[in-house]
Amino acid sequence: MPIPIRFNSRSVLMLLGSLVSLSLVAAQPQFTQETEVVVVGAGMAGLSATVALANEGASVILLEQNPFPGGTANAAEGVFGVGSRFQRDHYYGPPMMDKDEVFHHEMAYNHWMGNAPMMKAFVDQSGDTINWFEDQGVKFEEVAQTTYTGIRTWHVPVGHGAGLIRVLFGKAKQSPTVKVFMETEGTGLITDDQKRVIGVTAKGKAGEMRIRAKAVILATGGFGDNLEMVKRYHGNAFTGTVANFHKMGFGINACMKLGAKTEGMATLMNTAVYDKKKSAKMGMANPVDLEFDAMGQQPMNVMVNNNGERFCDEIIANDFVLQSNAIERQPTSSAWIIFSEDQRKRYANEGTDAGMGVIIPIGTKLKKMDGAIDGYIAAGDRNLYSADTVEELAAKIKVPADVLKRTLETYNHDCEVNHDSGFGKKPFFMRKLNGKLYAMHEVLSYLTTVGGVVVNKHFQPLDASDRPIQGVYVTGVDVGGLYGDSYGLDSPGTSMGFAAGSGRMAAAEILKSLKK
Ligand SMILES: Cc1cc2nc3c(=O)[nH]c(=O)nc-3n(C[C@H](O)[C@H](O)[C@H](O)COP(=O)(O)OP(=O)(O)OC[C@H]3O[C@@H](n4cnc5c(N)ncnc54)[C@H](O)[C@@H]3O)c2cc1C
Repeated sequence: MPIPIRFNSRSVLMLLGSLVSLSLVAAQPQFTQETEVVVVGAGMAGLSATVALANEGASVILLEQNPFPGGTANAAEGVFGVGSRFQRDHYYGPPMMDKDEVFHHEMAYNHWMGNAPMMKAFVDQSGDTINWFEDQGVKFEEVAQTTYTGIRTWHVPVGHGAGLIRVLFGKAKQSPTVKVFMETEGTGLITDDQKRVIGVTAKGKAGEMRIRAKAVILATGGFGDNLEMVKRYHGNAFTGTVANFHKMGFGINACMKLGAKTEGMATLMNTAVYDKKKSAKMGMANPVDLEFDAMGQQPMNVMVNNNGERFCDEIIANDFVLQSNAIERQPTSSAWIIFSEDQRKRYANEGTDAGMGVIIPIGTKLKKMDGAIDGYIAAGDRNLYSADTVEELAAKIKVPADVLKRTLETYNHDCEVNHDSGFGKKPFFMRKLNGKLYAMHEVLSYLTTVGGVVVNKHFQPLDASDRPIQGVYVTGVDVGGLYGDSYGLDSPGTSMGFAAGSGRMAAAEILKSLKK
């Protein structure tokens, strides 16, 4: 039997009131925190943005998923900058290119496939970002180039990338307007009914968080540790990476969920490395294997593919992106570095002809490599072989002996006549291969992803109709469009430089809107 309900005006009002408040609860999620700006990611871009905001008194919540700040920037060495005080005072070499020249150089390198207004804004502010770092307490040890023909734009901080991060993180933590949440992962963007971003969800030591903010900066460093995404956008050729500590593509994926476009997702900061097999692919590289990697980038080596044929002028190994591109075209996207006993001794006792950044500077005596090589060969499972004859080496590395023999005989002859009939290599870098021979397997790896979200000049993501998504800003390698099909090493340090510059530029935009 139905229970009779008697209404009076008071109970109707109460019922209506509770219905209204219920619907308000459903429409407006409860926020656990409120701030002016949330920055997701305490790496190069995120810390630059945070310190720039804090310096102007803005309130910031900084989220970092790892127990340490800095992400991949901890492994980096130098930061791009043109026209800095430090470059002016420490430059030597051919006449320095000015900002316009470097801008044109970079756009020509990417065949004008990249986002030209963004590149221009980045290059133009780059010297000021280096000055700003100095103003924050960062010290630089040199401004360098990384390839024989490169431009001297690479500002190397004392302590390298990790040293730079230490200074900025210290500033962020000391700021009274910044709250730092470590081991706290951004998990989603909160939007209002007009699809404007109004906050971030996160989880970490403090539990689940829903943070309300006037602006959100995404600085999560791309998707280098998300092997499924790397495979989707790049295919299978790449064997792994170093120092992309748990970077799963949060910033890019969160923007894509809101309809943002992406570009350049197939471009990597790609490099060729020794196929060390037993060493860890993720995490930081170990110092012994780094010397093998440096060994693989020496222009005096001979590189052959699995058919036993040379395929490039080995001087390109001095630019790891070019070397990696050339190797990617080869069968199984791998190559063999061939060198002789003379060269092994020369690299160990006299030093290298090409540097690998400032980790293994040019002229380094590869003593660790020399000490380890016989053990690696004896282990038999390190993709490193030696042999007294070409035939024996060919059998070990499973390439056609007749082809390898012809390749090396031709190379030795070309050394004698001072002309590389294959690829016009400069005779200065050609030495006959005599005596015992070595072969080291080289595979493709990458330092970071550099493709990501399409942004406008304010670093707001653009949707399919080129409309900016409000309330959110994308920075660092979460942004796509700075590069074409290859990362450029001619003007070195653009990834770190852009991360810092985009972080500062996004912060400047937000500060303008906060003041309105
Ligand atoms: C060995 C090596 C050497 C390099 N050398 C150079 C160099 O000399 N010059 C150069 O320009 N570039 C160099 N790079 C590349 C450079 O380190 C990166 O491109 C740069 O760090 C990018 O800055 P970022 O701020 O975009 O990302 P990062 O500095 O990696 O910062 C991203 C941060 O976001 C955090 N994060 C990710 N997802 C979340 C989430 N959901 N919630 C919270 N936090 C999150 C990460 O943990 C990380 O701390 C090098 C890279 C490697 C591996």
